Amino acid sequence: MNYNDFFEQALDRLRDERRYRVFADLERIAGRFPHALWHSPEGAKDVVIWCSNDYLGMAQHPKVVGAMTETAARMGTGAGGTRNIAGTNHPLVELERELADLHGKPAALVFTSGYVSNQTGIPTIAKLLPNCLILSDALNHNSMIEGARQSGCDRQIWRHNDVAHLEELLQAADPKRPKLIMFESLYSMDGDIAPVHAICDLAEKYGAMTYCDEVHAVGMYGARGGGICDRDNAMSRVDVLEGTLAKAFGCLGGYITGSEQMIDAVRSYAPGFIFTTALPPAICAAATAAIKHLKTSSWERERHQDRAARVKAVLNAAGLPVMPSTTHIVPVFIGDAEKCKEASDMLLAEHGIYIQPINYPTVPRGEERLRITPSPYHDDALIDRLAEALVDVWDRLDLPTRYQALAAE
Ligand code: PLP
Repeated sequence: MNYNDFFEQALDRLRDERRYRVFADLERIAGRFPHALWHSPEGAKDVVIWCSNDYLGMAQHPKVVGAMTETAARMGTGAGGTRNIAGTNHPLVELERELADLHGKPAALVFTSGYVSNQTGIPTIAKLLPNCLILSDALNHNSMIEGARQSGCDRQIWRHNDVAHLEELLQAADPKRPKLIMFESLYSMDGDIAPVHAICDLAEKYGAMTYCDEVHAVGMYGARGGGICDRDNAMSRVDVLEGTLAKAFGCLGGYITGSEQMIDAVRSYAPGFIFTTALPPAICAAATAAIKHLKTSSWERERHQDRAARVKAVLNAAGLPVMPSTTHIVPVFIGDAEKCKEASDMLLAEHGIYIQPINYPTVPRGEERLRITPSPYHDDALIDRLAEALVDVWDRLDLPTRYQALAAE
């Protein structure tokens, strides 16, 4: 039996569906972000990255890079094992304190990624609540869906951001049954925001616990970068706030924050925490430096919003189908997987612009798009060049110029 045939067939299925993924070979240049080198088949070329989730450019910030290199030189590279085996490196203790303070919670627990935080945090919490019912927003991230699945608990899906539907489900559930409502504060593919207070009102009314993923908001919203719940004064109303250190904080890792008891229980029961090596001290120190910086500096947040608004205005004025978004995410509609990939390839090869195509299953079929994420470091000249390049690609590929009309067809 040739086992590789099975893998080849699986890959062919993806190619047939036009969703086989190719990742560009890129080399970021610290201090010059969003510029990077693209190692193309013809050699290295200068390109501009327009789709990074290093939203604020903190991965190149001198304080963050300095903290990482200084700590690595002083404490070495690896963590030396799981925390059960090797104890906790001091920079990780400091990071957890910083995170608890960021979200105004008594305690925090760090995992090796935001994905793992959800995948192991959610089932651990849900399994410790007897006969828990999980109520999940329809557009929740795969890590939350996997977490809910692994819990083995009953699950119900409420229509995206539809609190009336959520209330119907809560009303129908046994009042005595523990319930966990889970949602994201900012949905990263459409750039829309959850009605956090309305969800918390329902949670209070029906006695449910709340779990909010702030992965695409931490660092970027709120006076100290605590996210949408910080901005909307809702941090104390949400029981579990989850986030990442890998996007606006420019490092790696994820975390949950909440009550002492909840955090201690997850620390004690979650397999995805217990059985894996902790984050290295240098990464913890770098993340702490980024969080500390963004607690007091609002320049990055203000400039980020300014850049996002400018990109939307310039692309709209150029007649491109910018999808509605109230946040820093700028999705531009294409609605066809093959053309989405082709547009992305043309932008890279002919215009030196890197924007990954967003296809199924990340978004529904027919909702394919380019997802543009401006950073504080995308200046006016880069935005103008982006608009010109997109118009060229749109004309040559005969791409749609309106989102609403095409989506309704
Ligand atoms: N939650 C959401 C909503 C995400 O979009 C992602 C990933 O991008 C994650 C969690 C996972 O976070 P991380 O990249 O830190 O693993």
